Amino acid sequence: MKDWEQVRPQYSEFKEIEQSQPWFKVYDIGHDILAIYEPYHFQEVISYLIKGKDKALLWDTGLGIGDMKKCVSELWDGELLVCNSHHHFDHFLGDWQFDNVYAFDHPDMIKALTQPLPDTYTGPNFAEDQFADDAPIKSHTYEFHPISYTLIKEGYVFDLGGRRFGVVHTPGHAKDAIMLDNKEEKILFTGDTYYPAPMYCFEPTFDTYVKTMDMLAEKYSDYLLVTSHNEPLRPGSIFIPIAKGFHDIKEHKLSKVAEFGEREMFKTEDFALIKIKD
Ligand SMILES: [Zn+2]
Repeated sequence: MKDWEQVRPQYSEFKEIEQSQPWFKVYDIGHDILAIYEPYHFQEVISYLIKGKDKALLWDTGLGIGDMKKCVSELWDGELLVCNSHHHFDHFLGDWQFDNVYAFDHPDMIKALTQPLPDTYTGPNFAEDQFADDAPIKSHTYEFHPISYTLIKEGYVFDLGGRRFGVVHTPGHAKDAIMLDNKEEKILFTGDTYYPAPMYCFEPTFDTYVKTMDMLAEKYSDYLLVTSHNEPLRPGSIFIPIAKGFHDIKEHKLSKVAEFGEREMFKTEDFALIKIKD
C-alpha cells in the first residue's frame, strides 16, 4: 500500500452516492454539492457537481481516466454547465466529452485546451506507480481530443437558479487559477490555490501567491472552502495563518524543511508549500 492510499477521514462524514463506475467515488457533501473523487490516482483530485434550481455546474472534469460524462449523467439529468479551475492535467482531461466548457481567458488555459500535452509530462503522471495498489484501473494512456470552450473573465457569474457563483482570479498555484464565490451562502470553491495537502507555487514569482493569499484572508476567512484535492471541506479561517506564513517565507523568517532540485519546501502546523527557490 502506498503512503497516500490512506482513507481520508472526512469522507466518513458524507453519504456515498451510488453510480456505476468503481473508478469514482461520489459523496454528498451537503449544500447541494456532490464531490466526484478519484481516490485511486496519486493526485486524489476532486471534481464537483454544484446543483441549482435550474442548472448544475460541473467544476472540473478530472483526470480523464473514468467516464466523467457518464458519471455526471447518473447524478443529474437537467441542464449542465462545465467550468475548469485551471489548466493542469488532473482537472480538465474529461473536458472533451462535453459540448462546451467555460475556461478562464489566459494563454496557459487556451494552450491546454488546444494543444496536446507532451508525452514527457503525461507519461510519468499516468505510469503505474501513480495508481493505488487496489485501483480498479491501473494505468492510462493520454490521448489528445479537441475541446469546445467559451472563455470567461474575472467577475463572470454562473447563475444556476437560486444560487450564483462568481469567478475570482487567484494566480499563485497557476497563472490561470480561478475560484468560484457564492456570496449569499459564503461558499468558495478554491481549486488548487488552496487544498489540504502541500501546496505548489508554479509561478516564478512567489509574490503573486502572497498577494492572492492576502486577498483571500481579507475577504473569505468566514467562508466554507471546497477544495480540489484529498478532502473537500475546510474553514476559510485557514487563510489567515497561511497568509501570515507566506509573508514569513517571503521575508525569509521561516526556514525551509526540504529541497528537491530547483524547489524548496516550507511547513507550518497550518500548511506546507513547495515553491521555486528564490
Ligand atoms: Zn490539481
